[in-house]
Amino acid sequence: MKWALRPVLRSVARQPATTKRRSLHLAPPFLLDDYTPRYQLLASRDASLKRSAAYGHLRECNLCPRLCGVNRYETTGTCLIGADVKVNVIAPHFGEEPCIQGHNGSGAVFMSGCNLRCTFCQNYDISHQRNGMDLTPEQLGEWYVKLQEVGKVHNVNIVTPEHVVPQVALSILHAKDLGLRIPIVYNTSSFDSLASLQLMDGLVDVYLADFKVWNPATSKRLLKADDYAGTARESLKEMRRQVGDLCFTSDGLAKRGLLVRHLVMPGKEEEGAQIMRFLASEISPDCFVNIMEQYHPDAHVGKPKKRGRAAQKAAGDSTVSSSSASTDQVRYADLNRPVTNKEVSYIRRAAEEAGLWRFNDPPKHDGFAI
Ligand code: SF4
Repeated sequence: MKWALRPVLRSVARQPATTKRRSLHLAPPFLLDDYTPRYQLLASRDASLKRSAAYGHLRECNLCPRLCGVNRYETTGTCLIGADVKVNVIAPHFGEEPCIQGHNGSGAVFMSGCNLRCTFCQNYDISHQRNGMDLTPEQLGEWYVKLQEVGKVHNVNIVTPEHVVPQVALSILHAKDLGLRIPIVYNTSSFDSLASLQLMDGLVDVYLADFKVWNPATSKRLLKADDYAGTARESLKEMRRQVGDLCFTSDGLAKRGLLVRHLVMPGKEEEGAQIMRFLASEISPDCFVNIMEQYHPDAHVGKPKKRGRAAQKAAGDSTVSSSSASTDQVRYADLNRPVTNKEVSYIRRAAEEAGLWRFNDPPKHDGFAI
């Protein structure tokens, strides 16, 4: 796609010397000539060390800030997953950012289970329920190669991997031996432990990381985690240390770096603004950000409260839907609506005022959305 690149580079040259803010993602230093995935460059000694470290974590699980301490060969903790990986869907996926999905799709591997309990979870049936097939790390690695060879996808995108990091590490090393050549995307809530992220260092190319909410009270109420934001801040710093800002090859595909997502939540625009200020000041002003507006009530949001259900039953009306229940009868009523343009714009403006400039916007030219 070099034809699309040339006019872009010319427009860089025409920028007046006084222009302070850059506006192009696909320009040095974010443009890579070529790319070799990091796991390909891992020394065999480091690969062996990762292999032996991987399963140690499972015997007294410290893989996330829940620190359940359980032996996952015998029982499960909050994430409900033991020593095997439970996978819900493996398929080319076209619902990611254009720079991740490209033309052929991103090779998504949706893990069942999660270490968060978001009341509004947009993947509730996968993350809160143990639906799926059990796979060994070796079988998982074989699927990565199938995605590459049959699906022709641009990357392997491991969705919600925080609670199965050792198995994922082993699967990547196995897939490398089988001929995997495409980048690995670690698609996370950012509720990771530093031990997990260190195990992933050298294996992951793109961190696709959420930053959900800022206030501890909000994370306790909505994510069922005491201080999600504190963990996410440290996780993002470690991810940025490992892979840097998001970089592309000239086909417009992201190959290495950190991409942060923020799902705008009803009435939480000030928390979103604080997240943007943190990204600009403590991660990088060149951090690539996707401010997402597709929130919809899901999971527990808008469901009748227990006493609402009891009242319905007493009245003999079991057909009242959550959408027709009055506000005081439904759970998390404050989240039971889509977000407004005003809320989205507020966060975007805060991001720009903080100095962020690399957003997941539609293209302003005829080329890729880069
Ligand atoms: S990964 Fe699961 S078992 Fe381990 S600490 Fe987190 S929630 Fe608990």
